[in-house]
Amino acid sequence: MENQREQRCSRLVFVLYPFQGHINPMLQLATIMYSKGFSITIVHPQFNSPDPSKHPQFTFTPISDDLSQGKVSTSDLFGTISALNRNCEEPLKEYIEKMLKAEDTHDRIACIIYDGLMFFAQSVADRLKLPGMSVRTSAAASILAYAVFRRHDEQGYISFLDLMSKDQETELQPLRLKDLVMLRSQNVPELIGELRANLTDSVKKSSAIIVNTMDFLEQNVVKQIQGLFPAFVFTIGPFHKLAPNISSSLLKEDTNCISWLDRQAPNSVIYVSFGSIASMDEKEFLETYWGLANSDQPFLWVVRPGLVRGSKSVELLPKSFEERVGDKGCIVEWAPQLEVLAHGAVGGFWSHCGWNSTLESICEGVPMLCRPFFGDQCLNAIYVCDVWKVGLELENELEKGNIEKAVRTLMVNTEGNEMRKRAMHLKEKVNLSLRQGGSCYNSLNELAEQMLSLRSN
Ligand code: UDP
Repeated sequence: MENQREQRCSRLVFVLYPFQGHINPMLQLATIMYSKGFSITIVHPQFNSPDPSKHPQFTFTPISDDLSQGKVSTSDLFGTISALNRNCEEPLKEYIEKMLKAEDTHDRIACIIYDGLMFFAQSVADRLKLPGMSVRTSAAASILAYAVFRRHDEQGYISFLDLMSKDQETELQPLRLKDLVMLRSQNVPELIGELRANLTDSVKKSSAIIVNTMDFLEQNVVKQIQGLFPAFVFTIGPFHKLAPNISSSLLKEDTNCISWLDRQAPNSVIYVSFGSIASMDEKEFLETYWGLANSDQPFLWVVRPGLVRGSKSVELLPKSFEERVGDKGCIVEWAPQLEVLAHGAVGGFWSHCGWNSTLESICEGVPMLCRPFFGDQCLNAIYVCDVWKVGLELENELEKGNIEKAVRTLMVNTEGNEMRKRAMHLKEKVNLSLRQGGSCYNSLNELAEQMLSLRSN
């Protein structure tokens, strides 16, 4: 690598989308590529800046995002994506132009690696004649589900799902793919259709598509994507397993829950977390509390600021909480999730099914209770429950009786035990793919080679 470094392009510029579920995998990927000998520059919007002191090996550069002060709303993610793509293109271009001017032969930019939602970065790469690589921090299937073409007759968009012939095989085919109405192109508001079309265009122009998934999880889907886009698809997940021991949490992790977990019996605890964005109303929050309390299983629950819309969540809990739950419940604002899922006391994960959480659970052999809130979380829940059969879905209105029953099914019934066995089997497959000669291991080496060889001028 040293020789290659002296002669070839070895700096990677990463462009982050500033939300927790995207910052984590992108910084993990940057760490992986750093370990392969690349130098790393991280470009990020000012909003939700990562903490550079946690990653001293990288160069961090904030760019102006022009998002009105503190007004970014997690309930308008499409508006935020649109604003970031509008506002960040020129600042990124100016910054990279400066880098190119100052570049010396030992430290040239190999390519721009951007979160797929920051698709303006592909335009910058094209304008500056640099290679761009699009990263999917969600399941490969989401590429198919979200991809839309513009219609030439200006009648809106055509989705890839509509183009897929009925008999094409994918992991999702026997399931409810055609029912994933929320992901399809019909009746989507213009802004969302436009965003999805721009995203698809950028993937078409990219030099590689990097996905945080594993071959054995989505083999047919990956094949299908490969047939639709010219760029090669690299499946090098799970990123977090290749970049352990890095923390990029925007909130402070409360590590006290680990000593609480140490006092619990093996596989007895249900870990409850709905990620960094999903929110619920007061009634749903209280039903969740009562369902957990009545299940009589020990629970570790992440109640982050903003989880309950318009309220200081924990203050809503009944005064009898201590007496009712005692040491059986532990509530934290933010948990060291990877450590929690790897802890022997954790036997189940009630999750919103964000892709990171889903992968993290599989990697530790932890079965899931799924409660997707929006977007690709619904797709991931189908994978968990219907394809891999390592979880069950909590459907309908959140109601304490249903919650209690579902928690007990997952944690103490035979059905849950079968799911746990299948989850352990997936964990073994993950470990195999990470070993020398495994699919992830090979794909990663090929990606590093491609990065070194892409830039010709
Ligand atoms: N996470 C964490 N502590 C918590 C809750 C979540 O570290 O208490 C991390 C989790 O490990 C995952 C990320 O936050 O890497 C959440 O990403 P995910 O895709 O699951 O959901 P999102 O937040 O994007 O909805």
